[in-house]
Amino acid sequence: MKGPYLIALDQGTTSSRAVIFDRQGTVAGVHAIEFTQIYPQPGWVEHDPLEILNTQVEALQEAVRKSGINVSEIAAIGITNQRETTVLWDRGSGQPVGNAIVWQCRRTAQMVEKLVADGYGEMITAKTGLVPDAYFSGTKLRWMLDQYNLQGKAERGEVCFGTIDSFLIYQMVEGQPHVSDATNAGRTMLYNIHEQKWDEELLKMLQIPKECLPRVVDSCGVVGMLRPDILGREIPVASILGDQHAALFGQTAFEAGAVKNTYGTGCFMLMNTGSTPVASTHGIVTTQAWRMNGKTTYALEGSVFMGGAVMQWLRDELKILDHVPDSEAIARSIPDTGGVFLVPAFTGLGAPWWDMYSRGMLIGMTRGTGREEIIRASLESIAYQTADLLNAMRADWKGETHALQVDGGASSNSFLMQFQADILGIPVWRSAVRETTAFGTAMMAGLATGVYSSMEELHSLWRRDAIFEPVMSSSERNSRMADWHRAVERARDWVRHD
Ligand code: ADP
Repeated sequence: MKGPYLIALDQGTTSSRAVIFDRQGTVAGVHAIEFTQIYPQPGWVEHDPLEILNTQVEALQEAVRKSGINVSEIAAIGITNQRETTVLWDRGSGQPVGNAIVWQCRRTAQMVEKLVADGYGEMITAKTGLVPDAYFSGTKLRWMLDQYNLQGKAERGEVCFGTIDSFLIYQMVEGQPHVSDATNAGRTMLYNIHEQKWDEELLKMLQIPKECLPRVVDSCGVVGMLRPDILGREIPVASILGDQHAALFGQTAFEAGAVKNTYGTGCFMLMNTGSTPVASTHGIVTTQAWRMNGKTTYALEGSVFMGGAVMQWLRDELKILDHVPDSEAIARSIPDTGGVFLVPAFTGLGAPWWDMYSRGMLIGMTRGTGREEIIRASLESIAYQTADLLNAMRADWKGETHALQVDGGASSNSFLMQFQADILGIPVWRSAVRETTAFGTAMMAGLATGVYSSMEELHSLWRRDAIFEPVMSSSERNSRMADWHRAVERARDWVRHD
């Protein structure tokens, strides 16, 4: 293998990783370091920003060292990160004022409820594309400014707010640029995705001073040079993308209508809607896919709470599965579930149902129902939930969808992928690149620095490792989806509201 090489800094929720790619998109080195999850009280999640920084720098140095590549052959570095996680730091010293509040943290749920009760909900959705939620950074930042009594300093610009991309760049790039890209800014609930700017009305709603906010830049473009003490040489840092946006780019889903689903613990689906932001009537979020040359590409985004986690539940709680990958052969050992459906609404149901009062349910069992049927129904439940999500997006975005492009741990299950194609009635394309998130930001950094000359060239690097064509008849598909929906209805509104 020979240079030029591109490196992705993939700063995730549980680990900091660095992945090195050669020009053909082949992985030339990788190093990952897990870091501490901090749970100060139930429902609260924090990270130590300095631990994030140190593990990310070390992951980069180790990946380069292990791969044996020459530092002079590294053309550019791209960043992709866990989104919404909020950091506040002192502009002068660069020291964080406290732990980062992680996207999962529910501490500002009541603050969001109050915003909605005060009538801000529709305005938030219209401007940000988001459904108001404690996930997003805005209320987390408000909480920090109050907690540390920093409103005055924020107004004077003496403290800086940023998501993880912003914090890493401030610390790792020469001259300490205080920037963030459009995809990360779009997850703050403070950024107007139509006008591409921090929104005065949203800032006023949460009393956030403009002076503490990063400058928002394109996802694709050089923001500065990596500090030479990190790898012994300056290297351009040339892309920033939130993790799901990077995966969409890494799937080279460049055309409007292209859609990807990542099958991890949960499932994350993004559909490219081109230059048009599509407002959903099904509770699906409107987001920016990326911004290049000042031009925004938009996307619809939705998630399934229980994806591969359903299989972990079979293994760890029900204890009817020794190893998750065994589920494929077990599902294939029977012709169908014999009418059994699992609705894995363990924490409620997301899009398009939005029912936090629903709970998990297994229905349709008979005296002959066994472990195989339950395992197969569990895999099928991942596909049914994904189908509901994609069908909702297809109802919002009226254009053509030719295929579902897939990645993530559970996409390696070919039974699941075939069933997915059958139940959707469109082909499923599985990416040969398993590191689509890292691949996406690395490719974008390559585009920004002239390693690649066009999006078409990037497209030619992407490979499918398998195509799953639908073979189920449409009458069977419709009948199964109808039964699934009957099952969902029975699981809904189970928890008492009082
Ligand atoms: P995350 O990034 O969310 O940690 P991964 O992409 O690593 O997730 O995927 C892990 C998830 O995929 C787990 O929930 C696991 O149960 C599921 N999984 C992994 N392999 C398979 C398989 N062969 N069949 C079904 N599910 C699988």
